[in-house]
Amino acid sequence: RAYDWDAFRAAIEGIRIYDDPKAVELRSRDYYWYSPILTDDIGHCKGDLIVIPADQEEVGRVAAAAARLRIPITLRGGGTGNYGQCIPLEGGIVLDMTKLDKVISIEKGRVRVEAGARISRLDDAVRETGQELMMYPSTRRIATIGGFLSGGSGGIGSLRHGMLRDDGNVFSVKVMTVEEEPRIIELHGNDIQKVQHAYGTNGIILEIELGLTDATDWIHTAALFPDYDATLRFCLKAMEDKLDCYLLTTVDRRFARFYTKFGDLFPSDRDAVFAMIAPQERERFAALAAEFGGTISFSMTLDELHQAGLQPAYECGWNHTTLTALKAEEGWTYLQVEYPRPFDPEIVRAQMQRYGDEQYMHHEMARLQGEQQIFGLPLVRYKNRAEMYRVIREIEELDGCTIYDPHAYTIEDGGMKQIDTVQIDFKRQADPFGLLNPGKTRGWTADMASTG
Ligand code: FAD
Repeated sequence: RAYDWDAFRAAIEGIRIYDDPKAVELRSRDYYWYSPILTDDIGHCKGDLIVIPADQEEVGRVAAAAARLRIPITLRGGGTGNYGQCIPLEGGIVLDMTKLDKVISIEKGRVRVEAGARISRLDDAVRETGQELMMYPSTRRIATIGGFLSGGSGGIGSLRHGMLRDDGNVFSVKVMTVEEEPRIIELHGNDIQKVQHAYGTNGIILEIELGLTDATDWIHTAALFPDYDATLRFCLKAMEDKLDCYLLTTVDRRFARFYTKFGDLFPSDRDAVFAMIAPQERERFAALAAEFGGTISFSMTLDELHQAGLQPAYECGWNHTTLTALKAEEGWTYLQVEYPRPFDPEIVRAQMQRYGDEQYMHHEMARLQGEQQIFGLPLVRYKNRAEMYRVIREIEELDGCTIYDPHAYTIEDGGMKQIDTVQIDFKRQADPFGLLNPGKTRGWTADMASTG
């Protein structure tokens, strides 16, 4: 589509832009390439211009000009989303939020921060006050807090504090509308759900107020087990015994060949549990592992781990496990599986039998709405689209699992399954012309856009 770029550039004069085609292409991408299906469907789409506002006032000028000239905006944080959330389907502006990175205030139990702040820097800042984040994605080094709220769901720490959408994790969000005169809307309490996991389709998040907890100097550790079933049963017992852990990840032995840095610490004849545990839990963790035939492979502070040249345990879990494999070998993709509650390891045993070498197993222990929730992120050998969807149906029908389809680019076809009418109602207010990340929600059609 043709947009009036001359008028737009004049309106945002003084604000940093990139228009070099290579830079534009690079910043129109995220980790969509995990999926050969997304690569086919949207891998060719890109924006026209990258705009990098320095502060909230500049974001307002961009929003006003885009609204007036009806130019789409795709918001971008770290660009680590893996549903193609950051890929502009209809061209337009890619609005890079990473310069809005101020940590505004830190109090006991809460922090207020601008949306473009990198999560690792935010966590460093709150650690200086003896506190830490409730959770972060395994991409904490690159991802921004705004991108996490808009595109993520939970991660390291979710075992202790639940998923991002659970109570107490996010207190308030400041949103800017895309209108000729942009407005600010503050959302509190449950109203936060109006923009959470909305892929930046219904407002520009400027600031977020998050919950904090007392800091722990987590020990990064791994235990090795004689079979995969033992890793799962060990984790279930660790949760039952309330071992203080921030992360519990089970990874089957066939991943060992991708984890080359670990060498004998993760040999290919043992299944592994990677964990972050409180220092006082070291003995209990080792004793419990022994009950399931496990032995401790390593147990280090973060500094010791860096000195040993190893990656932190949080980069051995969640979607980093997948990344480690995809970087090492072609022909793989993955799935995201929510298991029925209460979790039954027999389902995994049946899946391992059914899929053999077509799927490698990896599970995450977490909490959701106050209850234990186990997620699977199996590595899946890719054949073709029809086979992928046959397997998805099979896992849903035979095993009673829910698949958050990582091969789909709309909110609804991915994790959410249905149109969230509350989010769409909010979009009418915050993005009346339908300019934010068009094509990413089934709940919005062109005829809904205001013509005023
Ligand atoms: P981006 O990819 O830049 O954006 C994500 C979405 O948010 C896009 O739709 C974008 O338009 C929108 N957005 C960005 N900024 C704003 C804003 N200010 N206002 C409104 N909308 C905005 N996810 C998890 O939940 N847990 C994990 O453990 C996890 N592990 C991962 C591991 C790997 C290796 C990879 C590749 C991905 C992983 N993810 C995980 C997905 C992703 O990394 C996270 O969701 C991350 O938090 C996204 O942050 P980002 O800044 O990179 O967001």
